[in-house]
Amino acid sequence: MDTNTAAAKAALAHIEQDENPATIKAKSRDFFWYSPVLKDRMDHLEADFVVNPKTEAEVIEILRVCYAHDVPVTTRGAGTGNYGQAMPMRGGCVMHLRHMTAVKEIHPGRVICEPGILLKDLDSACKEHSGQEIRMFSSTWATATIGGFIAGGSGGVGSCTWGSLRDLGNIIRLRVVTMEAEPRVLEFRGEELARVSHAYGTNGIITEIEMPLAPAYDWVEMFVATKDFIAAARFAEELANEDGILIKLASVYEAPAPFDYFSRVRPHIEADDTLIGLMVAPHSMDGFETFLARRPEARLIYRSDRSDWPKTPGPVFEYGWNHTTLRALKVDPAITYLQVRYAFPRHLELIERMRDEFTPEILQHLEVLRENGKVMFAGLSLVKFSDEARLEEIIRIHEEAGAMIFNPHRYTLEEGGRQSVDDRQLAFKREADPKGLLNPGKMIAWDDPGWKYDRMYAYPAMSKPAEA
Ligand code: FAD
Repeated sequence: MDTNTAAAKAALAHIEQDENPATIKAKSRDFFWYSPVLKDRMDHLEADFVVNPKTEAEVIEILRVCYAHDVPVTTRGAGTGNYGQAMPMRGGCVMHLRHMTAVKEIHPGRVICEPGILLKDLDSACKEHSGQEIRMFSSTWATATIGGFIAGGSGGVGSCTWGSLRDLGNIIRLRVVTMEAEPRVLEFRGEELARVSHAYGTNGIITEIEMPLAPAYDWVEMFVATKDFIAAARFAEELANEDGILIKLASVYEAPAPFDYFSRVRPHIEADDTLIGLMVAPHSMDGFETFLARRPEARLIYRSDRSDWPKTPGPVFEYGWNHTTLRALKVDPAITYLQVRYAFPRHLELIERMRDEFTPEILQHLEVLRENGKVMFAGLSLVKFSDEARLEEIIRIHEEAGAMIFNPHRYTLEEGGRQSVDDRQLAFKREADPKGLLNPGKMIAWDDPGWKYDRMYAYPAMSKPAEA
């Protein structure tokens, strides 16, 4: 640890810190290892110290002290991000918000809370208070924080009805602390939310969140099997387009992924079954049953409220979104994934083209997503990894066809997004983090404004692996 870092750590001695080297190592990592590309480059990264603030005042103090000593600060919610978002590229301080879990106010249609509360705990508090729940959550509901979801995630369970986090109305207000000689506390609404949401904590730390709520339901979770992948995709799309049926999830898993990777489902299906995972509101079940009866090719094999399966499959949403990749990886470590935007109105045509091109190297996993009122698909395709060059080629072929890729094998905001600079995030970083100490290395536009995106960005100041 260099002298500046040691001085900052000592100046923060009165705030809870983790001293156990194994804990410091663990809290310097997220789920970056999903990507063989990131695993190669980031495995050695480690913070110099980890500090666990309990209040906004302690967050402000950590940022003030680290600013004074030029020490980088990388914020951690629960470390479930997939792209190394929460990993300290230059060491320094990891600030873990695990104690900032207060639910401050709940009103009809909205909740105000601290960022470190787990999504499941936030949901429980809202349900218990007034029968409400958050509109959407990442499939890491049981383990991820609301602050990490807003700063590092994009959408998930609920996005088939409500759209993504960045859609207007899905975040109401964020309270943000800057990293300056004297940190400021700012409140953002409306247009200003885009400065810090999905900015990986590179330009401010979120200390309070106001989110919209929806009525809570005991969702009926189901699996439906069919022999025809495209029929399954149509089923999911048509269900999401049934205006009178309320759903929270519609996922499609191409055969043989469910048979090969979903061990609790396997006894109930055959290798050539494509599976659809669903969450439907209980009062919509009559409508759903009518919808299902019109599609005799689809077999309802599981419903959570009437199950006779000897072993429960657990929550159906824990098969969807990025949990699909996790389940596949546990069975076959050579699997990796891509994040594809199959946009309306060409979504089904693009999916069929990619299947013609890549089956069986890629198995399709689709999530129904609503964007600007249109039903389309997010693809979290399961890819048999051979090498980086082939992965690049696969990405190029998708993009040339018009299927946009959000590259999950990159640690920067730009490369994981639309490969372009977000001017609002950059402008706010200039104001809120003048020394560039917040989660360094994650915003290319800050480090290298002339970058062309023609190859993978390599942050020059990234800590080097220790000599063997
Ligand atoms: P972390 O990983 O700790 O942090 C994420 C980013 O936010 C980091 O850059 C961190 O520095 C920053 N950050 C955290 N808290 C703050 C704060 N208070 N202020 C400023 N910056 C902050 N993502 C989805 O969007 N949808 C999914 O459905 C989904 N499914 C997943 C399934 C699996 C199995 C896994 C492993 C990941 C999945 N993810 C998904 C990614 C990830 O779980 C989510 O984005 C999650 O919500 C992140 O929360 P976290 O608390 O773990 O955040």
